[in-house]
Amino acid sequence: MARPALIVHGGAGPVPEAERSLRQAAVDRARDVGWSAIGQGALAAAVLAVRHMEDEPLLNAGIGACLNSDGVVELDAGVMEGADLRAGGAACLRDVRHPIDLAVAVMEDGRHVLLAGEGASRFARERGVEMADPSIFITDRKRQELIEGADTVGAVARDAEGRIAVAVSTGGRVGKLPGRVGDSPLPGAGFYVDDRFGGVCGTGLGEAFIRLGLARVMVIELQHGVDAASVAKGAIDYLGQALGAPGGVILVPRDGPPQAVFNTPAMPWAMAQ
Ligand code: ASP
Repeated sequence: MARPALIVHGGAGPVPEAERSLRQAAVDRARDVGWSAIGQGALAAAVLAVRHMEDEPLLNAGIGACLNSDGVVELDAGVMEGADLRAGGAACLRDVRHPIDLAVAVMEDGRHVLLAGEGASRFARERGVEMADPSIFITDRKRQELIEGADTVGAVARDAEGRIAVAVSTGGRVGKLPGRVGDSPLPGAGFYVDDRFGGVCGTGLGEAFIRLGLARVMVIELQHGVDAASVAKGAIDYLGQALGAPGGVILVPRDGPPQAVFNTPAMPWAMAQ
């Protein structure tokens, strides 16, 4: 039997002082939602926590996400299970109500790992994934235009069977070019998990996470016996030193407590174990 654990984050972007406690409360709620499902397994807990955060308007995922350079919300999400390395991602979504649901559908379908844009929307409709009018993601255009940098929401869970899962969802970076895909739907970049070692999820400048293959590097370090706290800190040092990039990571090792490290002024996170 493993000791169940869940860690959730609400992004490592520069948060206006006035929003900090509100964002922390949103992340705490997501932790509670995810933790209440831990008995259904790691995947359910991680996905439900992220699904909840897609509905928190102050977090950069789903409703309230940042705008691209056309003033449109384009969403990315990813999910992975560490038992058999199954993964699913969905990118550049404009009309999928819960991007994390589509990432799960891509993973469960199993033919591909990543679907984007129009084809991803068509697949979502065919699979009965809830769709939405793109306007519902914009709650406060002024605020969403002004989000600095950006954020992501993510969760990593370990259940009593020792299964580990990770889920992530984001609006990406503010002012991004239409069609830009970040690290969040890409296994190995924004997230990775292998039950034998642990699971990780990142937030920050997606281009840097992709170039460093950072999530995969972290799990390889766990595989080589580096302790979880050093892996998390080392990843953020590497992100800063190699590419001068802002970011944060959360990590759940095979055994032991979750970790959270970031090099930005704030990254709301919460855990349960
Ligand atoms: N990693 C996300 C992206 O680049 C955004 C963020 O977490 O700040 O799409």
